[in-house]
Amino acid sequence: MNHAITELAKSFLNLLFPPHCVNCKRYLDQATDLMLCAFCNRKICQNPKPYCERCGRSIDNSGALCAECRKTKLHFSAARSAYIYDGALKEVIRAFKYKGKLTLGAGLARLLMDFIKENEDMILGIDAITFVPLQNGRMRERGFNQSKALASRIAEEIKIHCPDLLEKIRSTKNQNELSRDGRLCNLRGAFRIRRGSDIKGLRILLVDDVMTTGSTLSECSKTLFDAGAAEVRCLTLARGL
Ligand SMILES: [Zn+2]
Ligand SMILES: [Zn+2]
Repeated sequence: MNHAITELAKSFLNLLFPPHCVNCKRYLDQATDLMLCAFCNRKICQNPKPYCERCGRSIDNSGALCAECRKTKLHFSAARSAYIYDGALKEVIRAFKYKGKLTLGAGLARLLMDFIKENEDMILGIDAITFVPLQNGRMRERGFNQSKALASRIAEEIKIHCPDLLEKIRSTKNQNELSRDGRLCNLRGAFRIRRGSDIKGLRILLVDDVMTTGSTLSECSKTLFDAGAAEVRCLTLARGL
């Protein structure tokens, strides 16, 4: 009965607000979890293997580490990104993050789960899942933390504890405006462990939505290692080009 009412409410809402593809704005016969038409959905592109062993960047077969990782040591044990941050997926992530389309969180978490199912070593032996924190001001503006939303859905599905371990203690410049070295400097000392968290010896999976140079994940990982974490693996939904 409840199911019938929910379906009825959905049909009514579809009549009032006909669903459109988030990317190409084409009318959708039926709302989907990512709000993409079949054409745009097919354009979501996996981050192609092989990966740099450390940062997960797609590389050719010429070495285990990418050129950036041979130059600079990022602090996480390893990082992997499931898809390329471009086209239709970029639009879905932006609608989720900046346009308040919170229902897209379920579809994005499902995409991340698809990746985990194909790469189970990512979660092998993990004790806790946590996420990159937002600055307080940004949290007030946006009303939610997109990385926490993804991490907690995954944690629920694979039945691993998802504690809120990190906090951002000072404001930093927008990372998009900085060079790679500038990004690393900008974030130094920007995070701390939340009071009362005991993470000694834990193997942690750190989740974020998009990875670009890896500086944010690296600084968060350093904070976790300094507090005694045994391992920090990072997982992001998408990788910036
Ligand atoms: Zn479309
Ligand atoms: Zn690398």
